[in-house]
This record gives sequence, structure tokens and C-alpha cells, in this order.
Amino acid sequence: MGKVTGFMEIDRQEQKYQPASDRIRHFREFTLPLNQGEVERQAARCMDCGIPYCHGPTGCPVHNQIPDWNDLVYQGDWELALRNLHSTNNFPEFTGRVCPAPCEEACTLNLEDAPVNIKTVEQAIADKGWKEGWIRAEPSATKTGKTVAVIGSGPAGMAAAQQLARAGHTVHVYEREPKAGGLLRYGIPDFKMEKRHIDLRVKQLEEEGVTFHYGVNVGVTVTMEELSERHDAVIICAGAERPRDPGVSGMELEGCHWAMDYLVQQNRRVGGEDVSGEAPIWAAGKHVVVIGGGDTASDCVGTAFRQGALSVTQLDIRPIPPLKEDKLTVWPYWPTKFRTSSSQAEGAEREFSAATLGLVGEDGHIVGVKCARVDEKRKPIPGTEFILRADLVMAAIGFSGPRLDTFIAELDGKLELDGRTNVKANTEDYKTSYANVFAAGDVRRGQSLVVWAIREGRQAARAVDEFLTGSSNLPR
Ligand SMILES: Cc1cc2nc3c(=O)[nH]c(=O)nc-3n(C[C@H](O)[C@H](O)[C@H](O)COP(=O)(O)OP(=O)(O)OC[C@H]3O[C@@H](n4cnc5c(N)ncnc54)[C@H](O)[C@@H]3O)c2cc1C
Ligand code: SF4
Repeated sequence: MGKVTGFMEIDRQEQKYQPASDRIRHFREFTLPLNQGEVERQAARCMDCGIPYCHGPTGCPVHNQIPDWNDLVYQGDWELALRNLHSTNNFPEFTGRVCPAPCEEACTLNLEDAPVNIKTVEQAIADKGWKEGWIRAEPSATKTGKTVAVIGSGPAGMAAAQQLARAGHTVHVYEREPKAGGLLRYGIPDFKMEKRHIDLRVKQLEEEGVTFHYGVNVGVTVTMEELSERHDAVIICAGAERPRDPGVSGMELEGCHWAMDYLVQQNRRVGGEDVSGEAPIWAAGKHVVVIGGGDTASDCVGTAFRQGALSVTQLDIRPIPPLKEDKLTVWPYWPTKFRTSSSQAEGAEREFSAATLGLVGEDGHIVGVKCARVDEKRKPIPGTEFILRADLVMAAIGFSGPRLDTFIAELDGKLELDGRTNVKANTEDYKTSYANVFAAGDVRRGQSLVVWAIREGRQAARAVDEFLTGSSNLPR
């Protein structure tokens, strides 16, 4: 259980960041990891609670066995800690970097505002595993003779592919983009997670027998019908890419963009892909306004600063949240409270209770954003209008569901959608309404988190294994 008195003797210590003035000069990761001894001391703070809420159901979605690996790290047995961590999470170096860590909110020590540094320990275990050469391909010794197609190579598709390959199935991943990773590669910027981490896992999956087919847009360049006939099962892990429309006039003005057009282009640029055929979306020397208050908006903020924006203002229609939650009311659940992302801390202005009324243009180019304060029903309050100067505007107010113009259009109603236009399947068998086709990740649950995508990919893999062989040894 970590050190019996650890939580009383040792203070929580956060990873440090490079100063904002330095880190906005590059797109690389900027955290300064704790040294091994300090990570072991942080793990020693774990109390091994009788009911470890961090582990679930309100904490970690993949049910990482957090108290167990905290203890192993404290004891210095990092290799066993890694094996334990991999038993629930295929890609802990991803979640150790980008997960919002609901586990830490659920930690008993969070009642005193100083939870165990769970995410930092998770990242340290995975990073050490790669450094020491402990993470290797684990190809299946036997083959089942069954083939599975996975559509999409985001975290859900990668997790499903790895689990199924390890169960002995022949796995083909069909991916529209030139590289694997989904939003981990093309949405999340390198300063949050460098893409070399994805490349290492893709290599591991290939060595375990997974074949990646890039540039295949299922429903357009190959039909779902064909894939479902060619394979014994298909899992759709195609994400939820359809942006939510802010419904304001002026989005057609030059200088107004969907957040994902901006982020994808910059991620391609950083990744060395050719973007010369696209008009550059570039923030240098500009006043930038980002509409939206979530992760995507925050990533636009950090990207704009790195491109040399003069100012960045973020508009959030929600009221400013309380600085601190009432722990006794909300713990161990995820609380609504004022949070500042590392990108926002780089100098963003934040406007709360602010609705976007319209985009103001001159000669076809954006020059300002017309806003107003809203009441508690999010209705604009007359007389509170104001205009923010803007040379570049990004709309980042979330996603409505999967694209409707590819395999969903092809199947023309045969693939049932739920009320939110996600592909309909439950979390027991992950089966869709169409033939031998399953669905997992954002395409099924709507835009969510990397850790939920990994969980669904793993669970869907087990469901498919059972469907193909009648039973499964894969964990749920
Ligand atoms: C900007 C941004 C920042 C985010 N930041 C965070 C964060 O910090 N932490 C966090 O936990 N989560 C974050 N998220 C959410 C997280 O990235 C997603 O929840 C997660 O990637 C979903 O995984 P997925 O595998 O279901 O789908 P995706 O990652 O969306 O992958 C879907 C894949 O399917 C492919 N595809 C789609 N249609 C087809 C087709 N017809 N044929 C072939 N291939 C297809 C796509 O090209 C893509 O590679 C962020 C999301 C965005 C947009
Ligand atoms: S995956 Fe997320 S919730 Fe689970 S242990 Fe890691 S940081 Fe915590």
C-alpha cells in the first residue's frame, strides 16, 4: 500500500512546465518529468483505500489497478507495475499525457485537495517501460483463422486491433488518413502529446500481426458491404467528427474557420506532411478569437500562441464556474470548477457568459466578433453587447456525432443510429443493427475522451472474440 504514513509525510508534487515564454516557441511537449526517486515518493502517498474510488466506478474508465501499481512503484518494482498497468490499459503513455484524470478527482486524498499524482505515476511507468525495452510485441502463438476489419485507427481502433490480434485473429485496420492515431495525431497538438508515442505503438501492433491500410475511406473508396463480406467481423471506430455549428452569421468570411481545419493543418505541418495545397490558416500577428470552452478550443489557443498570435480571446457561453467545489457534495465525482489549461495559462483572455451574436466583416474579411452576456438560460441580455477585434476566428463548440456522408450514407438506414445520431450499439455486445458489424469509441458514445475510447475498443474486442469463437479470455 505505498508507505503506511506516506500521505502524512510527503507533499503532492506536480510535474513542472517549461515557462510559457519558452514553451510557446516550439510545438514539443514541455513538461519536466519528476525524477525516478520523486515518482516513487509520490506513489508512496497512496493509502490503498478499502474502496479505491480512483479505480472505479467513478474514477478510471479502464479500471486501472492504481493502488497496486502505486505500491509496486514505491517498492521499486517498475517492471511488474508496467505489467499490471498493461493488464487494463493498452496505451498508458497516451493517457498519462492527455487524460483529464478523473481518478485523481476520486482519490480519497482529494478530500484534502492533494490527491495522489496518479497520472504522473502512470506516465512515468509507461515511459520507463519504453526506455528499458520492457515493452515488446506480444504476438499470439496460435491463429484462429478468423479475420476482423477495424475501421479507424484512433485509440478505440488501436486498442481493439491489439486485443484481437493478441487473441489470434487476423486484423486489418482501414484508415482514411495517411497515418494512424485519429484525433490523437490530427486533433491533439504535439505540445500535449508528441506523435512518436503513436508511431511506437503502431510498430508494436504491426509486429503483432496487425495490417494497416491507409488512405481508405470506408463508404467512399470501399463499401462497408464489401468489408463485411470479406471479413468475419467489422468494428467501426470512426470517431465523431461532425462539428457542431455555432449557428452565427458570417462563418463564410475570410479568416473564420472550424477548429479542426486549423488543428489538423498544424498537426500535419508539424508531422512533416505536405500542406502546400491548402490555404494556410496562420495566427502570427493576428488577434484571434476562439468560440468555445472545451479541450478543442484550448488546443486552438495554445496553437495560436505558438504561431505568434498578438492576442487570443476565448469565448465561453457558460458562467464562470466556482473556484472550488464543495467536496462533501460532489466527491468522488468529476466536479465543475474553474480550471485553467496550460494553453490558457499562456496568456489567453477568457470571457464567460458570453454568446456569439455574429461575425463582423469588412470587404469579405473578419474584423470582429459581436458578443453579448447571457442570462442563466443562456439568452443574450439586451444592452450588454460588445465587439471583440478579430483577424482570425475559430469555431470550437464541440461535435455532433459521426460523419453522415460515408458508410452511414452508403448503408442508407440499415445501420441504425441513436437519438444523437451516433451509431447505435450497447456496451454489452457492441453489436450494431447491420450484419457482422460492431461499433466502439466516439462513433458510438459521441465525442469523449481517449481513455473511454481505449475502454470501448477493449470491450468491443472481447465481444467480437466471443462472437467469432463462442468464448473469450480477453478482459472486459
Ligand atoms: C482537438 C481535440 C482535443 C482533444 N483533447 C483531448 C484530451 O486532451 N484528452 C482526452 O482524453 N481526449 C481528448 N479529445 C478527445 C479524444 O481525442 C477522442 O475522444 C478520441 O480520440 C476518440 O477516439 P476514437 O478512436 O473513438 O476516434 P478518433 O480518435 O476520432 O479516430 C477515428 C479514426 O477513424 C478514421 N475514420 C473516420 N471515418 C473513416 C472512414 N469512413 N474510413 C476510414 N477511416 C475513417 C479517422 O480518420 C480517425 O483516424 C480531444 C479531441 C479533440 C478534437
Ligand atoms: S487512464 Fe486517466 S483516469 Fe485512468 S489512471 Fe490514467 S489518468 Fe487516471
